[in-house]
Amino acid sequence: MRDDLRAFVRRLEENEILLRVKREVSPRFELPGVMRHAEKAGKAVLFENVSGSRFPVVNNILGTRKMLALAFDCKEEECTKRFEERWLKRISPVVVSEAPVKEVVKKGDDVDVSELPLVTHCEGDAGPYITAGVVVTKDPDTGIRNVSINRMQYKGKDKLGIRMMPPQHLGLIQEKAEQKGRPLEVAVAIGNHPFELLAATTSIPFGEDEFELAGALREEPLELVKCETVDLEVPANAEIVIEGEVLPNVREAEGPFGDFMQFYVPVMENHVFKVKAITHREDAIYQTIQASSFEDVQLLALSREAKVYHALMDAQINVKAVSLVPTVLACAISIEKRYEGEPKNAAAAAFGVYSWLKMCVVVDHDVNVFDVNDVWWAIASRANLGKGVTLIDNSLGFPRDPHKVHTTKMMIDATIPLGEWAEYRRKRVPGADEIRLDDYLK
Ligand code: MN
Repeated sequence: MRDDLRAFVRRLEENEILLRVKREVSPRFELPGVMRHAEKAGKAVLFENVSGSRFPVVNNILGTRKMLALAFDCKEEECTKRFEERWLKRISPVVVSEAPVKEVVKKGDDVDVSELPLVTHCEGDAGPYITAGVVVTKDPDTGIRNVSINRMQYKGKDKLGIRMMPPQHLGLIQEKAEQKGRPLEVAVAIGNHPFELLAATTSIPFGEDEFELAGALREEPLELVKCETVDLEVPANAEIVIEGEVLPNVREAEGPFGDFMQFYVPVMENHVFKVKAITHREDAIYQTIQASSFEDVQLLALSREAKVYHALMDAQINVKAVSLVPTVLACAISIEKRYEGEPKNAAAAAFGVYSWLKMCVVVDHDVNVFDVNDVWWAIASRANLGKGVTLIDNSLGFPRDPHKVHTTKMMIDATIPLGEWAEYRRKRVPGADEIRLDDYLK
């Protein structure tokens, strides 16, 4: 099985959750503007005609839980469990000699990043950005591969600004190369299947290869191919690959950029990526992810949900589901409560394994944690706020926090008292879940 981006896009289309936009769209603000509406409608979009480029653009392929469930071939509420079951069963990638991403190879003077439909997302952004680039490097000491997603600002036909800072692994690796006075070889794969995106956004220990995690999620080895100009391997079935090197001791202004928290990160002196080659499929599809979109948050959320889920199982709590959407700083957990006080243990376990977590709401198993309305309903109708709200001061939180607004955490027990189910029973219409509205409109 060669599951890649275009196979997944076909799958979305078969499930009627892909929109095709044939009209010409500007990649500057208009494309992200259209996306806002598609996102609300729960659809992925393939923009077939983007001004200034011959390549189509796909966005929002993980814009709903249903899309994530299609990738894992499971029910929507099972995605976290699937990730948790698979993520430690690492499978090494294999290197193949033939690859679709080599159909077109451009080197030297033929390299022009501006041929790609780079998107300018927000009014305050410094310019067009690559936001779905899976960045591949190797540790200069150990040769172990590292894979991550990093924003890249367009700076010229063979030049990109790239954010890479320790303690993030890519930053640590660049620091090692820089201490040796050497450029760091980098390859960026664009147009990836959800499993490569999820692997690249999962926080695993330094020295572990995220492509082995991609293999774990796929339950088969990821196929890689050697690069043309650098000693690295990239997914053979990616749509586009940019190769080059990050120059040692060179920094330039990068930013501002509207980030996943919906704020602009300020201008910073960041690294410079000199492009040496671009390879792509003849009919390559360019992929973009909008920072702070549901897709972006979901990519960050799933592995962290799995971590929390695992911790709750370790604590022998009957956990039903864990949700870190629509913001990865707030968590909703549904459990089958057996003891009074157990929801506080559940929340404490979640805070323990995931330090960014700021708010944690624990609800009963009949509440849908992926529906914010349902979670608010549970708090409003079931929580005893006098007993159920606990604040934890002076704790470690989200790191980019100059005003220390993330150092206090809050847990809310929104479960009903044990033994009071008869009184708190939710009303329900029998058979409603099975009804398809379309059948009544024929
Ligand atoms: Mn890493």
